[in-house]
Amino acid sequence: MAALVLESPGQLSLQQIPVPSPGPGELLVRVRAATTCGTDLKAYLRGHPMIPMPGTLGHEYSGDVVAVGDNAPYKVGDAIMGVHSAPCQSCYWCLHDQENLCESIMSTKVLGSYAEYLLIPERIARLNVFLKPESLSYETASLLEPFACVAQGVSLLDLKPDSTVLVIGPGAIGLLFVAALKAIGVTNVTLAGRNTSRLEVGNQLGATTCFVTDIPLPSTPGFDFVIECTGQVEVWEKSVDFARRGGTVMLFGVCAGGTRASFDTRRLHYDQIELISPFHFGTQAVKQAREWLLNPALDLTPLLSGVRQLDEATEVFADLQASRGIKYVFKP
Ligand SMILES: [Zn+2]
Ligand SMILES: [Zn+2]
Repeated sequence: MAALVLESPGQLSLQQIPVPSPGPGELLVRVRAATTCGTDLKAYLRGHPMIPMPGTLGHEYSGDVVAVGDNAPYKVGDAIMGVHSAPCQSCYWCLHDQENLCESIMSTKVLGSYAEYLLIPERIARLNVFLKPESLSYETASLLEPFACVAQGVSLLDLKPDSTVLVIGPGAIGLLFVAALKAIGVTNVTLAGRNTSRLEVGNQLGATTCFVTDIPLPSTPGFDFVIECTGQVEVWEKSVDFARRGGTVMLFGVCAGGTRASFDTRRLHYDQIELISPFHFGTQAVKQAREWLLNPALDLTPLLSGVRQLDEATEVFADLQASRGIKYVFKP
């Protein structure tokens, strides 16, 4: 089968590798859609601690089950959507309601959805794969994983319908936050960024949009919640300025390794600003993301910037690096 391999930063190759065969509880999936992700772009540009090289790439997917191992939870012919990890549900973190921090959630994840077939390990097949209804396209279903990241973040915020929320960074994650907030009925959402076409998508998804330089400062009360989605240290630091007294800042964008951020300690203390920075997701967040995807009122198609072929991957990553498009869909 054809599979995209990341050899080293900046070096992709399309290779022929053997089609894996499923063991007990495993699923072999014919990938129908695999969306690109900022994590893949980071790995391509500078390497990534969670993505080994050389190795197959891609972790967002949907597809059809074409072979199963004994006692697999799905059957041949089922259309499915899933994520690429699952918690063990028995380690310290799993037993303390922090499945996202499970000690083996990263070491047991599966990469390689930029390929014709993807083998889903037993634990993931059992916990984090779902049937894809016909009403949901393969392309949109492939957004389950990034939407689960967003659902994990949302679950940590005590949001009310009248909460004021500022999302900084109109990339795929920022836009998915806008969509999720709309899904749970939070109407007062401001999306700030630089890229006008991405801001326009935010507008379509229901946010008020503005340039980062024009974010209303808290001379007025400031925002109840600020969600940082750029992964730039300066923006992490600046985010605190936009929160109201007693507000919460969620630092969601992942900064480059080895960086440090600094904050005004008096502001954090006397204005009681809460800082949180969630990682990954547990099974509840995946279920929540699935529910949102099934909501017909939510249209995520503006996030999909077009279908591309695996042999165009280098151009696709160049486009993403230049902020042309939001997410591309590979149909291997
Ligand atoms: Zn992703
Ligand atoms: Zn665990």
